Amino acid sequence: MRKWSAYEVAIKQFDKAADILNLDEGLRKLFKKPKREFIVNFPVKMDDGSIRVFTGYRVQHNDARGPYKGGIRYHPNVDLEEVRALAFWMTWKCAVVGVPFGGAKGGVTCDPKEMSKEEVERLTRRYTAEIAPIIGPTKDVPAPDVNTNEQIMAWVMDTYSVESGYTVNCVVTGKPISVGGSVGRREATGRGVTFITKEACKHMGKQLSQCSVAIQGFGNVGSITAKLLSSEGARVVGVSDATGGVYDESGLDINKLLLHVKQHGSLEGYPGHKKELSSGVLELPVDVLIPAAIENQITAENMHRIKAKIIVEAANGPTTPDAEEHLLKKGVFIVPDILSNAGGVVVSYFEWVQNIQKLFWDEEEVNQKLHQIMQRAYNEVWEIANNRKVDMRTAAYILAISRVANAVKARGIFP
Ligand code: NAD
Repeated sequence: MRKWSAYEVAIKQFDKAADILNLDEGLRKLFKKPKREFIVNFPVKMDDGSIRVFTGYRVQHNDARGPYKGGIRYHPNVDLEEVRALAFWMTWKCAVVGVPFGGAKGGVTCDPKEMSKEEVERLTRRYTAEIAPIIGPTKDVPAPDVNTNEQIMAWVMDTYSVESGYTVNCVVTGKPISVGGSVGRREATGRGVTFITKEACKHMGKQLSQCSVAIQGFGNVGSITAKLLSSEGARVVGVSDATGGVYDESGLDINKLLLHVKQHGSLEGYPGHKKELSSGVLELPVDVLIPAAIENQITAENMHRIKAKIIVEAANGPTTPDAEEHLLKKGVFIVPDILSNAGGVVVSYFEWVQNIQKLFWDEEEVNQKLHQIMQRAYNEVWEIANNRKVDMRTAAYILAISRVANAVKARGIFP
């Protein structure tokens, strides 16, 4: 059975659409390579007085349409190839929803769960100082991703500001509201996923209230998606995180689960919690499956056991190409990551705009504008899928590649 790296998955997805578009060979080569890969090895003083050296990355894939944009991930599996894939996906995601950013991603190979808050702060500040030469409000604007949050974004902003000599809040998005964050940003990715799930159900001739849902990943994206979907009438029957998961055919109490995670840090210890549901949640008998954890979760190994008829990719790169091919043949409707989880970058764009204008919007305005952009992007992708008789991922790539290619062509190749 083939083992895919995230970057191989990304390239395979890109090639499928580039072939249909008959994309210029030169542009194809340009898009397959990131513009810049920045690797930093830096020391952090640990609480016991020892010094540890960490490796961090910032990969900037393409900035033809605007400043680079993309999250920062802290995880033991972070490596150059993973960050490269995530940066690549960001270029297409920003283009699908039409926000004026390019694609980038950052990460540090570390396990923040094994570190104290002070150690994570020192790591964040030093990593920020190391990548400071290549980030900035008009250059590259980071945001949260796996294991990073508002507090970490505040440290990024503070470190960059101290080094600049004045407060620069638009260097990063996903900040706390007290330092220029946008209302609605924390919920934005989950809100976007919820909206897309509703559209996907409609497409399959179902109401949300008739659908059962399973969600892998109960962090920022997974837990908010669970909460919003259940408040809109869907029956969320299974959720999981890295420790395991819970399943109740009659529907889970999401508020109770959220409280448990707040108090205990994970789903572990929740009544009925089972370790094997961590990935087993993907195989539950549900209408809608939402992977919201990490890459390469729906693979050739488990594809035959997937029962959902709709898959909404909240995580980046959760489905390998061989698994996708099998599921599409079975008639499963898959809404791709670069569309489904774009709500985060859309509201990050709103946060950046509000910071630059020094003018803040209320939550209703943020959510209404988010809704408008997600609806437009979904309709555009669906129209391409329908007209060209391709799957939704290929349609999303066709839309995105065309937009980025047009920007490159308009700018011309320097000199
Ligand atoms: P997070 O750190 O808040 O949560 C990640 C969750 O996934 C945790 O519950 C963790 O326990 C779980 N998890 C990790 N490994 C797992 C495994 N092997 N099996 C089951 N569960 C596992 O991260 P997040 O911000 O919610 O991001 C989740 C996904 O969504 C990632 O793929 C990320 O790139 C993507 N995403 C995030 C945003 C955002 O705004 N945060 C935007 C777009 C896409």
